[in-house]
Amino acid sequence: MLISTDGIVLKTKALGSDDYVYTILTREKGVITAFARNRQRISRGMGSALELFTYSNFVLFQSKDRYSINSATSNKVFFGIRSDIEKVSLASYLSELLIELAPEEGEDPTEYVRLFLNCLSMLESGKRSVQFIKPLFELRIMALAGYMPDLLGCTVCGESEGKSLCFLPGEGSLLCDSCVGHVTGQQMIQLTPGELAAMRHIIYAPMEKLFSFALPEQALKRLSAISEQYIYAQLDKGFPTLEFYHTLVV
Ligand SMILES: [Zn+2]
Repeated sequence: MLISTDGIVLKTKALGSDDYVYTILTREKGVITAFARNRQRISRGMGSALELFTYSNFVLFQSKDRYSINSATSNKVFFGIRSDIEKVSLASYLSELLIELAPEEGEDPTEYVRLFLNCLSMLESGKRSVQFIKPLFELRIMALAGYMPDLLGCTVCGESEGKSLCFLPGEGSLLCDSCVGHVTGQQMIQLTPGELAAMRHIIYAPMEKLFSFALPEQALKRLSAISEQYIYAQLDKGFPTLEFYHTLVV
């Protein structure tokens, strides 16, 4: 059966001399693995359609749960990312998060596709920095994937404002300084009002407004560390692409 779907190439791997396997986030089927036998033949005339982070239309042959690529046509090539090693390393990490968290067949992947395409566009144009995009994507994809933290207020008394709220990565919740005594043995991170406002914005804002907030660079670095700790606490695993990113961006 032939199917046509738009999708973004998340990962490529050589299998043999000219055989490749692709991991693709598709609009129709979520994250799939697709094979390309004789890539030279397939990619002839297709330009960058099979390159990493390219948004392409794929014609796939499906046999049970196996896919092979018949043809591919690029919709959007993010040239401004491919020429910048920091942007490439971040996009690789975001791809790894998508492979981990985006749905496979059966659930609607639309919001994941929109989120990744918007982040790639912002990165490519330079409208937002890698330091801005990283925590935004991390927190937003966790919320999409069922790990939405409760950032409305203190989980014990409901206090929602002030300088005294701590974030608990293990619980995905907030505690105020009057209530921290109720909890022991948990990692806690004191949040500034600006950090909390940014986290709430990333989690709760509609997609059209997602990129419309600002934080100083130092606060973005803190936010990045907090979102990383949240992912680590919730998923209990590290990501090789994140380690590489940190060899380039502190
Ligand atoms: Zn409280």
